[in-house]
Amino acid sequence: MQNVFVSNHPLVQHKLSILRDVKTEPKKFRQLVKEITALLAYEATQDLATHPIEVQTPLTTAHCQELKEKIGLVPILRAGLGMVDGIWELMPSSEVWHIGLYRDERTLKPVEYYNKLPIGPTVGVCLILDPMLATGGSAVATADILKRWGVQKIKFLGLIGAPEGIAAMQEAHPDIPIHLACIDDHLNEKGYIVPGLGDAGDRQFGTA
Ligand code: URA
Repeated sequence: MQNVFVSNHPLVQHKLSILRDVKTEPKKFRQLVKEITALLAYEATQDLATHPIEVQTPLTTAHCQELKEKIGLVPILRAGLGMVDGIWELMPSSEVWHIGLYRDERTLKPVEYYNKLPIGPTVGVCLILDPMLATGGSAVATADILKRWGVQKIKFLGLIGAPEGIAAMQEAHPDIPIHLACIDDHLNEKGYIVPGLGDAGDRQFGTA
């Protein structure tokens, strides 16, 4: 699949297997979401632009690099919230922007209920965060909003993707790279990824 990157890092795969386990409690689940996200973000940000800076060391001047562009983190509510901290620790000056979407029961289309983006983008790169890329409806709608906002570079970071959600994202936004820990088998009739890990929101927030 073009523009889809699945981490084969042993740490990611080890942690994912614990995350999937039905016996894993919310505290451990949240910790794993954070850790896997940080590892995926490390891989997904390897092409970020830098520019040269000079840094005064105790001995002399060192020629270094710093990130050129401001990064925006856009968690898809609510399960994406748990992915923010893992990246924030790596990139503490990232901005976090919230966009609220729900699925209309009748049309099955995402409806925007919260969006406080200012006029004109304040970041050069946005990472859309959602642990489960299931139907892809929210991810596609979020990417639509970010593109309308004027963001030049967007990436999607998730833990598990269903073939259906990946196909929807690739059709609507072929330019957006998708970074995942795993691609699972299929979506069931209730929209859950199989084998998956259940409801990522419920498992993080203890509402299962
Ligand atoms: N959202 C989840 O939390 N889990 C799934 O399996 C699909 C969507």
